[in-house]
Amino acid sequence: MTLTEVRHLIAELGLRPSKALGQNFLTDQNIRDLILRHADVRPDETVIEIGPGLGALTEDLFKQARRLIAIEKDPRLADYLQQRFPGLELIEGDAVKILSPSTIYHLPSTFKVVSNLPYSISTPILECFVEGTNKPRMMVLTIQREVALRLAATPRHKDYSALTVFTQLYYHVTIVHVVSPHCFYPEPRVDSAIIVLDRRDTRMKLEKNAPFHEIVRIGFNQRRKMLRKLLANYGGVAEGLRVAGVSPTARAEELSIEQWITLANALSR
Ligand code: SAM
Repeated sequence: MTLTEVRHLIAELGLRPSKALGQNFLTDQNIRDLILRHADVRPDETVIEIGPGLGALTEDLFKQARRLIAIEKDPRLADYLQQRFPGLELIEGDAVKILSPSTIYHLPSTFKVVSNLPYSISTPILECFVEGTNKPRMMVLTIQREVALRLAATPRHKDYSALTVFTQLYYHVTIVHVVSPHCFYPEPRVDSAIIVLDRRDTRMKLEKNAPFHEIVRIGFNQRRKMLRKLLANYGGVAEGLRVAGVSPTARAEELSIEQWITLANALSR
């Protein structure tokens, strides 16, 4: 959809784009094509689209996927989409409430998520998919650039955080493009980025009782402090750091994902 088409449609539907719902509609065809190319949806695949809006991505996803589940909170947009795409599996409501590990567990393990996410829900949506037992095989998301930098960060970088570690435990994260505010109407205040999250199928195994999430949270909550001190209660932390190949004075931001896994496994014994 071009800028002119989006403006006309908004006027025709009598909409006033809502800031609270992050309604910044995509108007740049090159960006749309880039997202769809990375999503590479096959005819046998199931896709979830969160916030289809005026349908910039929905039209092609609906044609390409075997099953498209679109979740839209704004009832005016949900009505419009349902009329434009009869047969579309459209759920009207808040994706944060609708999506939970128990509602996505029955989807095929190859399902994909494609979304220009409203900024305010990007973290809970990511957490839901990353923490769930049935994780999407791939996610192509347009999110705030700042959040994208955190998700893709590497050790010793200021953006490397607990969210980075939790996400990269299961996904390869690639920033494929930074998107200017001019590509949306109305224009958001900040830059966005398209990220691709590809599920990792081979990864060092976390042992069942490994306190992975606890130690990562504790470590990054006080990131300037040494892990040896922060995790002293666990016992065996010095040995765990040694096995992980990290210095005894290491802080959270210095550990790679593999080192976090080794440390958590060592502390589970
Ligand atoms: N996909 C469209 C596009 O690319 O032009 C719209 C993207 S716009 C950034 C975000 C969309 O998410 C809006 O349509 C908005 O109404 C919808 N939305 C906002 N909060 C939502 C929520 N909690 N659950 C589902 N949809 C939501």
